[in-house]
Amino acid sequence: MADRDPLLLDEDLRRWRQCARRLWLHHRAPGAATPRATQAERADASLTGGPAPGEALQASWPGARVISAVDAPRDSAAFWPDALQRTAHALAADPPRPLIGACLVDAAQGLVVRIDLMVPGPRGWRLVRVRHATVGDEIDVDHLVLWAELLERQGVPVSALTLALVDTDFIYPGHGLYAGLYREVDLTEARPARAGWNWPAEMRVLLSGPDPGTPCGSQCHRPERCPCLDHCSAGAPSDDPAPPVDPTVSLEIFGREQAARLRETGCRTALDVPPAALTAPRHRRAWQAVHARHLVVAPGARDVLAVQPGPRHFLRFETIGFAVPPWAGTRPYQVLPFQWSCATEHTPGAPRREAHFLAGPRDGDPRRAFALSLLEALGSCGAVLAYNAGFERNRLRELAIACPDLGSALEALQPRIVDLFQLARAHLYHPAMAGSWSARSVFDALAPELGCGRFEVLGSLSPLAAFARSLGRGLDAHGIATLQAALIDHGRRQTLALVRLTAALETGQVAAP
Ligand code: SF4
Repeated sequence: MADRDPLLLDEDLRRWRQCARRLWLHHRAPGAATPRATQAERADASLTGGPAPGEALQASWPGARVISAVDAPRDSAAFWPDALQRTAHALAADPPRPLIGACLVDAAQGLVVRIDLMVPGPRGWRLVRVRHATVGDEIDVDHLVLWAELLERQGVPVSALTLALVDTDFIYPGHGLYAGLYREVDLTEARPARAGWNWPAEMRVLLSGPDPGTPCGSQCHRPERCPCLDHCSAGAPSDDPAPPVDPTVSLEIFGREQAARLRETGCRTALDVPPAALTAPRHRRAWQAVHARHLVVAPGARDVLAVQPGPRHFLRFETIGFAVPPWAGTRPYQVLPFQWSCATEHTPGAPRREAHFLAGPRDGDPRRAFALSLLEALGSCGAVLAYNAGFERNRLRELAIACPDLGSALEALQPRIVDLFQLARAHLYHPAMAGSWSARSVFDALAPELGCGRFEVLGSLSPLAAFARSLGRGLDAHGIATLQAALIDHGRRQTLALVRLTAALETGQVAAP
């Protein structure tokens, strides 16, 4: 290995498995990955586990020693020296203890790895790949085999390879008692299939050559969206000689099946479609909107809204489902509401009263406080307007089960709920929706200045990531307050978008900001 050769990490396996070019770009042209995509990649990794993955690991393997490392990216040279030294000491300890995050280097190959968990046994170490997931994949086996080979080259015996996955039957009893959260799957027998495999050498060959120039394809989105996609697709030659279609006039706005049928008749965009070819009122409305280039609202929505009793409560929920449940009595991946936002309008157009609830880092299970505060905000009368309200309805049912004494009050909210999604789908279309009925698309089309689809605070790119971060350690009070302020503002913008959607349904026009 030459001095200027980049350090290879076990993390490179994921890049390599997705696409050789992704690996090449990561090391040889780091600017090819969009910063936002790279940031999202890191944020997503921390989001899946939840705020307590380290705590859960230590509780599951009591007595394990955690090999700490400096707070630096793993692909920076600063990350490794101390951790390598600590690992060497820990491996020499007698009696040996389980090790979390052991770091090893293979200087000849320029390879560094961080092993999730090593458990000593009479015949050698059991290596455990820890995934905050319910199923594993080939890359897990790759990691385990790579770790095993590196250890054995250094004279450290390995007896077994296992994968620790999250057991969804686990119910967290609280007090940090996470034993039982993980179930181990033995992958030792998968090792022989990778005998003679030397990916570090193959990677070195790749990295010593020019950009492999792999064309874009399905690999760019599997198993995840490649952070280099913008780079690779810019100016990439396409097999399709026709220029790309503006998504707002794509045939897909009529749905995939209808688009395929229309394509067979020679139509290329929605503007080519004769009106007689569309029979569904929803499709005819979309056709009308893209031709007129403005919002179209069919009669009827106003009447539905007019009979709803006042006041109007515009409501949005945010939920999360961590792999490692943070609150006693909850399961892995259980959908748990952590924030509601509400704007109440006593008469249309009158000043609105805004309210919210947001779970705090030290509040524990937020469900009861969520339910109590929500009941107070919604009172005993008035329509509750939500978008895709099946989501809110289901959360209310779950809250009624979790808080039986509030059950009847929560159930009483159900008949008051009006689903603006159903109403919009049956009556409204705006060209900027480009055929999408997601809240984000509809809100951005009708209230673009609210920026409902945008979220970024302290490097967290989604409300869920920001909330997860607000629960974890490592942030001071100011940092937590910054995250919480961003979440509250996000919720507020969402409820304002509901107000704007309702106004559009009533007036047939996009309201001025
Ligand atoms: S965008 Fe596609 S072709 Fe480019 S590096 Fe990523 S996976 Fe490979």
